[in-house]
Amino acid sequence: MQADINIGLLGHVDHGKTTLTKALTGKWTDTHSEEMKRGISIRLGYADAYIYYCPKCKKVTIKKKCPGCGGKTEVKRKISFVDAPGHETLMTTAISAASILDAALFLIAANEKCPQPQTIEHMLVLDTTGIKNIIVVQTKVDLVTKEKAIENYREIKEFLKGTIAENAPIIPVSAHNGLNLDALVEGIGAIKIEDRKKDAPLRMYLSRSFDINKPGNEIEKLKGGVVGGSIVEGSLKTGEKIEMSPGISRKEGSPPEPLVSKVTALREESDKLEEAGPGGLLAIGTTIDPALTKSDGLVGSVLGRPGEVPKVTNEITIRYNILKRPDMKVQLLRENEPVVVNVHTYTGVGVITKLVKGGKATIRLKRPTVVYDDMHVALSRRVDQRWRLSAWGTVV
Ligand code: GDP
Ligand code: ZN
Repeated sequence: MQADINIGLLGHVDHGKTTLTKALTGKWTDTHSEEMKRGISIRLGYADAYIYYCPKCKKVTIKKKCPGCGGKTEVKRKISFVDAPGHETLMTTAISAASILDAALFLIAANEKCPQPQTIEHMLVLDTTGIKNIIVVQTKVDLVTKEKAIENYREIKEFLKGTIAENAPIIPVSAHNGLNLDALVEGIGAIKIEDRKKDAPLRMYLSRSFDINKPGNEIEKLKGGVVGGSIVEGSLKTGEKIEMSPGISRKEGSPPEPLVSKVTALREESDKLEEAGPGGLLAIGTTIDPALTKSDGLVGSVLGRPGEVPKVTNEITIRYNILKRPDMKVQLLRENEPVVVNVHTYTGVGVITKLVKGGKATIRLKRPTVVYDDMHVALSRRVDQRWRLSAWGTVV
């Protein structure tokens, strides 16, 4: 079975994203802090989970055996959770995660004043990408008194005013002792998503890529490179031909080359699939050289059918809006200004080469990408030594 939905966990660092993911899925996704210490690239955490339904108790649960009556349950839904890093320096990673999300759990800790800096920033990400399916989770309620929890709830309500999550439900939980997780699971089980374009041309955004071979493997036993991400439109079967674009440079300094390959395996965590469509985080086995896919080398590429992926480009033009931020005044964009561009799972630096009245900007990218019309783009600019989300728009 394939997951039908990707749910992101967003919120300020230490507000309990990884702990909640573990409570919901049994998996520990926190590789961020370890990776940061070692100074290597920051990956998103992934974990799949099933939601079950007990027909007797008429309740949803994350347990295969109903905790209410001990009876058998039915699978209601499979979900892929994406744990986005909350650290301030990892904002662009969180923005790029948003491009493959259908819904979000937005975590706010009950034992800290709301909002914290990345509470604000992650909400801006949801606001600008337009992810409407949001459940606000008030975490760590075991650490505060009832009065404090209510006071914090009021702060959360106030903070949500005017944001995309203004009317989202707020569910208090404690991941440490499982308090109220059943209410959260019920909320997750009820999330509705729009119909997906399963018959459209294939389009998948790559959010990870790796080499699954162990060092020292014999050459005959080497497995091809593996890429991971989400199909946003269309569908794919094992054995089919694929193209990944812009691909990767074969030599340092040379432009990247699109890679054409074949699907040798299709899976979602431990589940093998014959065919896959939108929803869930997939891993695809290919015939390409694993040296090209190792260490997330293909993150930011788009996967489609050969000849159907748009041309690679070093320049994009967008219709943009300057962001209104509650925590700082955002200045107007300027020509020749450096920006970080986030589009689908691509993150790259660019320079604004042209601004046209009416809110159009042309940006020259250092590393090329592939874009489709109307695609969502986020621009961050340097303020006080940090890249801050400052404008967003769509490709024209
Ligand atoms: P993240 O940075 O948002 O992923 O936060 P973590 O999941 O790593 O949690 C940060 C800290 O808060 C850890 O020390 C957790 O043990 C603690 N924590 C998370 N959830 C709870 C909870 O429900 N109750 C209590 N008391 N502590 C929690
Ligand atoms: Zn039951």
